[in-house]
Amino acid sequence: MLSMLAQLAIGAIDLAAAFLVIYGLKRMSSPVTAPSGIFVAGIGMLAAIVASFLYVFAVRAAALPHLPVNVGLAIAALVIGGGAAWWSGKKVAMTSMPQMVALYNGMGGGAAAAIAAVELLSNQAQGVTALSITLIGALIGAVSLSGSLIAWAKLDGVIEHPLRIKGQQILNGLMMLATLAVGGYIVFLTQTGSVPLLPVSDLIYLFFACALVFGVLMTLPIGGADMPVVISIYNAFTGLAVGLEGFVLQNPALMIAGMVVGAAGLLLTLLMAKAMNRSVSNVVFTNFGAIVKAKPGAIKGDLKPVDAGDAGIFMRYASTVIIVPGYGLAVAHGQQKLYEFVKLLQAAGVKVKFAVHPVAGRMPGQMDVLLAEANVPYDMIFQLEDINDEFSHTDAVLVIGANDVVNPAARTDKSSPIFGMPILNVDQAKQVYVVKRGEGRGYAGIVNALFYGENCNMVYGDAQAVLIKMIEAVRGLGTAAE
Ligand code: NAP
Repeated sequence: MLSMLAQLAIGAIDLAAAFLVIYGLKRMSSPVTAPSGIFVAGIGMLAAIVASFLYVFAVRAAALPHLPVNVGLAIAALVIGGGAAWWSGKKVAMTSMPQMVALYNGMGGGAAAAIAAVELLSNQAQGVTALSITLIGALIGAVSLSGSLIAWAKLDGVIEHPLRIKGQQILNGLMMLATLAVGGYIVFLTQTGSVPLLPVSDLIYLFFACALVFGVLMTLPIGGADMPVVISIYNAFTGLAVGLEGFVLQNPALMIAGMVVGAAGLLLTLLMAKAMNRSVSNVVFTNFGAIVKAKPGAIKGDLKPVDAGDAGIFMRYASTVIIVPGYGLAVAHGQQKLYEFVKLLQAAGVKVKFAVHPVAGRMPGQMDVLLAEANVPYDMIFQLEDINDEFSHTDAVLVIGANDVVNPAARTDKSSPIFGMPILNVDQAKQVYVVKRGEGRGYAGIVNALFYGENCNMVYGDAQAVLIKMIEAVRGLGTAAE
């Protein structure tokens, strides 16, 4: 009776956990509701943990001979993992967020693979269906673990260059076939009872080793710049692996949360690829982001540097200004100074808007988060499709640390790697100021014709340092803000 009540309670908590995760994800779709969305999803995770402990104590206790040791280990893992996540989450810099996501995503895949390993080694998965699903979950989880670790190493600069060898795709294909063959052999053995070539436990270890190596081989050749999309793919993998292992364990919270995360990761991957006008296979199989030499004569005009103060004063006397933030703003931690400058312009009567490109920065929503950090009101922030028609009748545009997302080659140059990517129509504005440190290329590694345009001036320097000079210059005028 008690066990039945406990089962009912566990079911109810699992369902509530799944609902909270879905609702939390929904709230994460807007920067306004995202912080509370993260909190709600966290409560969902906590509920799932409570349900797991209830399951162990109320349903499985009699069948677990080492219950106190197991529970002690689980609590130790929660404290160590939770503590490390809390500490690193507090300390991580905005620009290192993709690395952290890669690392935690890999751990999710690793956890799913570990569950599968326990199920396989203790012979819990019985029957062709359950065994196959466990193995597929194990394969996807292990690939996600080792692939995400390589993605982390690339983003963190531990691995600096894509590592490609001749015949890489063939080698990858062979490795995948080998993994599937070992998995198939394990299913065959357990169903037919034939005498194995190796003990089944050794075959299981071999299966995991092949899957982990496959994840490494698949990720090594991909350029570091494409890692955010790759992480999103692995995020989808991890969700799928967790969902499959949830099916094996008959745990509804894992099934629902895993599938929702898997679907969200897949959608995010497709949206990122679409915003860059590239296919997912182009991301995985091509050398995108390698520095491309400019074709001689392809770009006309000169780079025209101006003083930061002069640019600031020009914008102070404009009627309308649009700000386009990019990756460099995040690198320079310039968001607070940017908003300080904007407030000075507003106090002087200038109408200011922010234009955010869907793939500005290095992860989805990075610019929205950056601007939210500086308390920029959401009604000043406009997405590409809502603001693109306004550039042609705007007095001045301040491009700060952005490059590819304002490159007109995406519209005109069929040979450009970003051809077809929707871009912000900055080149159509009356006057453009581009803040960057020098002649560094953007993520796509290509030259930007915007910088050479008649209407464009370059303000060289670190974004934050430039903004400080602009603020000083505008303040020096004794504006209405004083
Ligand atoms: P970007 O094209 O990468 O250009 C950033 C520019 O910032 C560089 O040209 C660099 O020039 C400048 N910069 C770097 N540090 C700076 C600093 N401290 N102060 C001032 N400027 C600095 O950036 P973006 O325009 O934001 O475009 C994003 C790119 O990333 C797109 O190609 C997009 O497809 C890609 N991507 C985005 C995502 C995503 O989810 N958001 C995911 C994958 C790929 P200097 O070196 O001369 O300073």
